[in-house]
Amino acid sequence: MPLIEFTDKGLYCAQGQFYIDPWQPVNKAIITHAHSDHARWGSSYYLCHHLTKPILQLRLGDNNYQTVEWNEPVYMNGVTITLHPAGHIIGSSQIRVEYNGEIWVVSGDYKTENDGISGQFEPVRCHTFITESTFGLPIYRWQPQEVLFASMRKWIAQNKEQGRTSLLLAYSLGKSQRVIKALADSVDHVFVHGAVYNTQQALQHAGWRFPEVEKVTNDIPKELFHQNLVVAPGSAADSPWIKKMQPVSTGICSGWMQVRGNARRRNTDAGFALSDHADWDGLLQTVKATGAEKVFVTHGFQSAFSRFLNENGIEAGEVKTAFGNEEEDETIPETAIESSAVNINDPENEA
Ligand SMILES: [Zn+2]
Ligand SMILES: [Zn+2]
Repeated sequence: MPLIEFTDKGLYCAQGQFYIDPWQPVNKAIITHAHSDHARWGSSYYLCHHLTKPILQLRLGDNNYQTVEWNEPVYMNGVTITLHPAGHIIGSSQIRVEYNGEIWVVSGDYKTENDGISGQFEPVRCHTFITESTFGLPIYRWQPQEVLFASMRKWIAQNKEQGRTSLLLAYSLGKSQRVIKALADSVDHVFVHGAVYNTQQALQHAGWRFPEVEKVTNDIPKELFHQNLVVAPGSAADSPWIKKMQPVSTGICSGWMQVRGNARRRNTDAGFALSDHADWDGLLQTVKATGAEKVFVTHGFQSAFSRFLNENGIEAGEVKTAFGNEEEDETIPETAIESSAVNINDPENEA
């Protein structure tokens, strides 16, 4: 029996009797990170990194949480479990599972660039690696975040000159904190949607320090929005409260913006390909660095990425999970996936 099985409730370790990021209620759940497709309600016990707990409490309420530091072992029926930084969002962790000398690692979501908040991703040596592949096509290659933040600052400056509100759509957990931290200096006020506000409050209660933000309310005079920055999740893009901020320039922060035309299709003024996921090179380097003999690919372009690995001498298979449809997806134009589902061997797509 494999150390980790793919069951209808999620990734299951029978020897240790626990699940990793189960999508149905179970007895013991180990949670990679607090995004809603990985951390679900109803389990009797949750094990997570201590930085993940405040957000789980915000989203799932009070539960039986056990927290650990990275690299601090927990033992379950002879199985050794450790968490390792995944660099995706605050507290995000890869789960390393070891039994009788056999080692599996479940990546959860990860990114290899250090965002200064989520910790530095570290590849973990293992025999079997279960990797995400949200951006597992060679067209997805990120620019360094400083380059992206510089173009956001330039965009904000232009909007200011024209007396416009800069509205950035960014997922409330992860990207919003990065954007606020990087851009707060370029405006007098940062206004945020309630979801972003609540997340930041929870993190501040846990001891984090972020630049000061103000929650968008009806009492704020509309002139105050002009020349300032508003940060909201993608789902808020069509909210009536945006009308109040007119004239508005809207920018989307999402890896999907890497594909030219996606911002335009979404009727947006600007697209910034800032992602909390590894790009093509990050995925590939990570898979190699784990030294894994066998790779399972899930959560994204699993068939393209696993095919590429197989063709390049790394045994890989695809696995269907209930992950995905989360932070990046909120801001995906419907057409993004179709237009990027292309043949990875086509040199035209290397741009
Ligand atoms: Zn995630
Ligand atoms: Zn995910």
